[in-house]
Amino acid sequence: MTINIQSEDEAVFNRLKSHGRITQSLRRLMTQQWNQCSVCNSYIPEGRPAFAGYDSKSNPLFVGACCASELQELATPVYWSDSLNLSVRDSGAVWRYMDFAKFTAMLQQRGLYLSRADRFDDRFEGATGLAARQTNWDEHYLGHFRKLIVTPPAGYPVPEYTAEQIEAEANRLLKSTKLVALEPRKLLVSCWHGNETEAEALWRLYSPQGTAGVAIKSTAGKLWDACARYDGAIVGRVHYVDFRRSFASIQNERIFQKRSSLSHEQEVRIVLPNERQLPVDGKILTCDLEKLVSEVVILPFAPSWFLKVISDVLSRYGYSFDLKQSELLDEPFF
Ligand SMILES: [Zn+2]
Repeated sequence: MTINIQSEDEAVFNRLKSHGRITQSLRRLMTQQWNQCSVCNSYIPEGRPAFAGYDSKSNPLFVGACCASELQELATPVYWSDSLNLSVRDSGAVWRYMDFAKFTAMLQQRGLYLSRADRFDDRFEGATGLAARQTNWDEHYLGHFRKLIVTPPAGYPVPEYTAEQIEAEANRLLKSTKLVALEPRKLLVSCWHGNETEAEALWRLYSPQGTAGVAIKSTAGKLWDACARYDGAIVGRVHYVDFRRSFASIQNERIFQKRSSLSHEQEVRIVLPNERQLPVDGKILTCDLEKLVSEVVILPFAPSWFLKVISDVLSRYGYSFDLKQSELLDEPFF
């Protein structure tokens, strides 16, 4: 990425010092806006900073130099062109398909269960790329580090390293980059399917014939609301990567990158930080399920008695969701 700071950006940096305090509502705005000013909606040019902060009433703002006069506090500058666009419209529908046991657990726990990414079946969760292409990646970064080591900051003399010292230092940097790259595998994740309608393939995947299951419907905006109390939570769209040609980002945002063979999932996920010192395997994100769930759809292949079981379980836990039959049961005409 080429950073391209203009005089009006410099004026903002001169007026405000960034303090790094990012509230959950500012994080939501930063993720959703990505490359657009939240005041005038114009696009922030590539390489130019966006300013994330607050107005005089402490409302979150994400603005370009165009509307920076409204900023009272600067939390951090953001260079959107160096990051993935995770934004999903607040009204975008999302679904979670689950078997009856998981559904009952959700009601009983009064929240969503988030699992550690490395506990998922997909072995590529948080992966950098294909093992067969690892040397390409290593060579790229070693080359980058070798250059970095012999390039002093402005005003400093060129360091006198032997070839062995440069090699040893470049390898040390590569090793620590790889250690940091393992961190996203500890993040806590809840997976949703972004789609306006039901998906027959997902019914078959998560509630195969002979089992009993439901799908709960919500929206991306409601997912954000559900984690409003959780610092650092992000709701974002998953990007599918062809690992035969590319690698995942070296940032933590790689938790939003999966193999292109899974692109049918059209996933939207909630990602929550995990403890650094004592990471847990999973966590319940307690939230108002009545607000989160807009409807509960019954598995299309479910036996007729299943509807009664579901409504009994709902009333037992004191929920009154909108209960629907699957659209897949709608009759055709010819
Ligand atoms: Zn603007």
